[in-house]
Amino acid sequence: MDYLPVFLQLRERPVLVVGGGRVAVRKVELLRRTGAKITVVAPELVDELRELATQGELRYLDTVFAPQHVAGTAAVIAATGVPEVNAAVSVAAREQNIPVNVVDDPAASTFIFPAIVDRSPILIAISSGGQAPVLARRVREQMEAFLPARLGALARFMGDRRKAVKRALRTAARRSFWERIVGGIVGARVFAGDEVTAGKDFERELRTTHLTRSSGTGGLGLGECYLIGAGPGDPDLLTLRALQLLQQADVILYDRLVPAAVLERARRDAERVFVGKQPGNHTTQERINELLVHYARLGLRVARLKGGDPFIFGRGGEEIEVLAAQGIPYIVVPGITAALGAAAATSIPLTHRKLAQSVTFVTGHVLDDESLDWHSLARARQTVVFYMGVGHLPQIAARLQAAGASADQPVAVIERATLPEQRTLRGTLGTIVSTVQAANVAPPALLIVGEVTALAAADTLMVSEFGALV
Ligand code: SAH
Repeated sequence: MDYLPVFLQLRERPVLVVGGGRVAVRKVELLRRTGAKITVVAPELVDELRELATQGELRYLDTVFAPQHVAGTAAVIAATGVPEVNAAVSVAAREQNIPVNVVDDPAASTFIFPAIVDRSPILIAISSGGQAPVLARRVREQMEAFLPARLGALARFMGDRRKAVKRALRTAARRSFWERIVGGIVGARVFAGDEVTAGKDFERELRTTHLTRSSGTGGLGLGECYLIGAGPGDPDLLTLRALQLLQQADVILYDRLVPAAVLERARRDAERVFVGKQPGNHTTQERINELLVHYARLGLRVARLKGGDPFIFGRGGEEIEVLAAQGIPYIVVPGITAALGAAAATSIPLTHRKLAQSVTFVTGHVLDDESLDWHSLARARQTVVFYMGVGHLPQIAARLQAAGASADQPVAVIERATLPEQRTLRGTLGTIVSTVQAANVAPPALLIVGEVTALAAADTLMVSEFGALV
């Protein structure tokens, strides 16, 4: 280890920045976040720094650097871009044992600035010891992407409640209690921005733990449920929150639409329970509801993983009703619904300034249900997406035309959108039935009706004429 990572407390402490240019601005911005008392020494100052000086946010010494400037400071930064001046700053600081950083010159520095992930009060500092700053930044980006945005909020939430937990629980119980908070619904709620409900769940968890077992392993005993949208199939289309919760669930109840590649992103040792509807293995909705309650009642963290979005033709509404009635805490994580995944994967814009002012998602499942207004679905200048419609395609095409849609209305059928086997078939209301039958399209597939589907086809054609893509 060439450097010792430490976190400096600089609030109200004097820090010297030598240099008044762009590089100095970056360092000053960073230092201001620590509450340090900043002095800038430079014969010239860029506008941003001048403004900060005018506002009294920093002290400005309008002069060239002299060794006495470092006296009494907690840290010194040389950001002049002039090697001789930087060297003089480095020497002066080191003579007085004051930590000094010379920007982009680790050899002249006694400390270096790491790449930072700032979720204050959680702070992560990453360093390559000056050897590969680009690599350190890449690591930082990866952490930025993976860590919940509200990590700091959770740290504060916990900090605010430390005393209460100390009073209520013995030392042995505290750790597992906090682990349940971080890795359970309370943490998930804070990450989702719902601190009010999180606070209530926290109180309840603390009370139950206090009352039941001072060993702290008991907890609510109620378990909890995460209703997670898995997206259309491509695992990279999972949301970050879906991924985070899949990593902490004990049991995963998943649908037929959830591919293995998505399940692979879940915790290795989580129990996986298939509850899809398949010929010969038909799990009814009642049975799924029972299973949800059953696993939660065991005190487990249950992920209910559904294709697309849980609230779009996903019966998510029924499941949360059951959970609410049983007093089981739950959280809903949205997913990319099949229509959006399919649209992106086929370059079909669902709305378009000239061609479609609205988009409607319809289930083709309940064709006989007269609640569907076929006349309005048949109108031009809009896009209509039929879910679960392949089996009923002939009826859908016939009813739209009977309601006034043109047989020339462009349509597309997308089978297994975003998955490696994705297929797109284009045609019109008049031709699509025979096209789909000839191609043996099977569920899951979507039917998109509207002029926007021809637009994407025209684009594709154009590209292929130039022999480039397709
Ligand atoms: N909740 C899901 C929809 C469930 S209903 C969502 O938001 O996407 C099941 C129907 O969704 C299927 O019959 C099919 O019409 C559609 N669907 C789901 N995934 C699909 C995919 N990858 N490609 C095409 N259609 C899909």
